Amino acid sequence: MVKQKAVATKEIMSDVDTLERDFMHYLRYHLGRELTSKDEYQLTALIYIVRDRLVENWKKTWDSYQSQSPKRGYYLSMEFLIGRSLRNNLLNLGIEGEIGEALEKLGLELEEVEQLEIDAGLGNGGLGRLAACFIDSCATLQLPVMGYGLRYEYGMFRQIIKDGFQIEEPDHWLGFGAYPWELKRSEYTRIVKFGGYCRSYVNPKTGLLIVHWEDAEEVLAMPFDVPIPGYKNKTVNTLRLWDASAAEDFKLTEFNQGSYFEAVAAKNEAENITMVLYPNDSSESGKELRLRQQYFLVSASLQDIVANWERHNDSYDNFAERNVFQLNDTHPSLAVAELMRILVDEKRLSWDEAWAIVTTTMAYTNHTLLPEALETWPAALMNRLLPRPMQIIEEINRRFLAQVAMKWPGDIDRQRRMSILGGQGEVRMAYLAIAGSFSVNGVAALHSQLLKEGLFNDFYQLWPHKFNNKTNGVTQRRWMAAANPGLRQLLDKTIGESWVTDLSQLSKLEKQLTNKAFRKKWDDIKLQNKQRLAELIKREVNIKVDPNSMFDVQVKRIHEYKRQLLNALHIIHLYNRIKRGDTDNWTNRVMIFGGKAAPGYDMAKLVIKLINNIAKVVNNDPDVGDKLKVVFIPNYSVSSMEVIAPGTDLSEQISTAGKEASGTGNMKFMMNGALTIGTLDGANVEIREAVGEENFFLFGLTADQALAKAGRYNPQDYIDNDHDLQAVMRLLEVGHFNQHEPGIFNDIIASLKTHHDQWMVLADFRSYVDMQAKAADAYQDKEHWTTLSILNTARSSVFSTDRTMEQYNDEIWKLPKIAVK
Ligand SMILES: *Cc1c(COP(=O)(O)O)cnc(C)c1O
Repeated sequence: MVKQKAVATKEIMSDVDTLERDFMHYLRYHLGRELTSKDEYQLTALIYIVRDRLVENWKKTWDSYQSQSPKRGYYLSMEFLIGRSLRNNLLNLGIEGEIGEALEKLGLELEEVEQLEIDAGLGNGGLGRLAACFIDSCATLQLPVMGYGLRYEYGMFRQIIKDGFQIEEPDHWLGFGAYPWELKRSEYTRIVKFGGYCRSYVNPKTGLLIVHWEDAEEVLAMPFDVPIPGYKNKTVNTLRLWDASAAEDFKLTEFNQGSYFEAVAAKNEAENITMVLYPNDSSESGKELRLRQQYFLVSASLQDIVANWERHNDSYDNFAERNVFQLNDTHPSLAVAELMRILVDEKRLSWDEAWAIVTTTMAYTNHTLLPEALETWPAALMNRLLPRPMQIIEEINRRFLAQVAMKWPGDIDRQRRMSILGGQGEVRMAYLAIAGSFSVNGVAALHSQLLKEGLFNDFYQLWPHKFNNKTNGVTQRRWMAAANPGLRQLLDKTIGESWVTDLSQLSKLEKQLTNKAFRKKWDDIKLQNKQRLAELIKREVNIKVDPNSMFDVQVKRIHEYKRQLLNALHIIHLYNRIKRGDTDNWTNRVMIFGGKAAPGYDMAKLVIKLINNIAKVVNNDPDVGDKLKVVFIPNYSVSSMEVIAPGTDLSEQISTAGKEASGTGNMKFMMNGALTIGTLDGANVEIREAVGEENFFLFGLTADQALAKAGRYNPQDYIDNDHDLQAVMRLLEVGHFNQHEPGIFNDIIASLKTHHDQWMVLADFRSYVDMQAKAADAYQDKEHWTTLSILNTARSSVFSTDRTMEQYNDEIWKLPKIAVK
């Protein structure tokens, strides 16, 4: 017994010899492979030895949380866009060097093996990537926060470009096995109900009304845990992802009656729930399966949290003091109703007791002002699929409207506007989230302001104290230390290593502005990173680009509000200038695009086609040469951004003002020393404040101006008054970029010329083109550009998610920091 205990507490060693031996053990005995061929088995063996070292601290972290029972935070999100994990986990464990050496002794190269890791693409874009950055920062800050999400079998689709068109291919990221980082935790399996009906009883002893949800279909929720390590601090937090399966493999009765097919079909229907991520960004799908996914996440997670609570507590008296839930957009807002259901129906708390708990534990983050992204669900569908949660929502609304009536007696119009149940028989999820939460936040200063003034103004008047701002961020561990090793080295040498967990250290770089040797290294690193990006471009699309050109980059989801079209119009303008010989003091440019369009979003898909067609004309015109290249990098993803951001000179953040809630791509570029051309939108406002207005290429209408213009916008005015714009429109209209595909861009032309163009692309054309010319001139002044590049990094510290998470914690969650020993 004594001996066993000694073995169990002995720490696993991470010296080169042990790592080498462990690696070979996994490869040979666990996977049954040898070193002969380079393949994913080596990657898997490598991940297993890294995971072993995480599991040890994972257990310690879990034990600390259980024994100290601190207040816990739960981040509920339908998306976690993680990408690869190996490099990040090695960095956080601090064993990159040893692993590299161990592999080298075996004739392998860490950098090559790393490339084999498949992205965990369980998200669409910014919202999902934010969740991944948040849990990284929470672990580094030693905050007891757990992520809850879904283990989609198919993540974000893989994008292929064929003849200039986007083709979607399924992302079967789990391959034929499992995700090597995860641990299956079948002992925490939960049951989630759908359908059936509600039956009410009066308890004869207490006289209280009891509701039973009966005859429901039951789906199993199986948790898979992913370790989320902090930076060199022994904290390993948990991301718990739920997988759906049928409650019984075969319903024997149906099987015996010959309903074999129905039995298997029912199994499929259950498993469908976590089959695939909905690929819509900033628009809702409205599909029943999506609603099932949302409830599945919320119900399984809350049951899990409540069950854990009951293992250590015998009442709910201080549940609210010890738990807090952050809802990542309205996608998990059914949590409000589900926690009520659990507390009232299962734990037999009174409505008022339960409501007091819900409204002091739920916090909601809004991510968008776009009307097409605001979630509603038909009440009829909710009644059929979730009869009991829907009853609860109706009761919440009844009581809520009484409160509205008290505050504004007789104001029927306001009651109608604010009702959680809309006039078209829809449930307004954002209103449910606001009514059920003690905190409502936007994700950048401007966005939070616009929420209070516009979309949620009625609610702001009722509950001003609920509203607050939490400007987004990104983690510098992934987006600088891991993605930009050259920069990391230079920073470590120049200002020490503490910036990795304290980004404010970056301000020390300002002292280096006049240091010639430092500036030279800065330029060398940028050039190397541009070479790396040029290689990616060569590999992916077989276009040779010159790393001495200005790399002008717009990568993000393709969406009209993000205005890739405006960028495309500028490129056509540059092409026109080259063709007419207007090229004095020309700055060579590579215009780089990347991004996926939602498969059902025709206009966005057409924009991809247009960019590719422009690229084809421009790149093959001998008059153009290196003056201008246009590249569309297929399958934009976290791992491609890790190459793109460090290799960028100019970051395009050109959304119509008032439409981009925050943006986080803008922050990744800034940290890596890119300059920004952008509108006063989302976090661009704060980026410009941080770097200094003279160091930011600002253009375009403000949000107020855009709002004022809506309804009396006349694009023809802009065409009539601008020869450059006329020339651009003429090339589009004569079909210069679609000579063998007549008419295919008609919808784009029409969208630019209609009074109803919400995105007001042509309104900003002139100021955009002029500011682009200034950016091109600035690039020619190499010394000045280097200064601006250094300043961007030096002044980017406020955009670390470490800062964001500290603010969530100080102002919303109020969790203690738990040091894991
Ligand atoms: C950062 C990131 C985004 C968000 O980009 P925005 O420019 O803020 O829209 C989307 N997708 C991926 C893969 C990212 O890394």
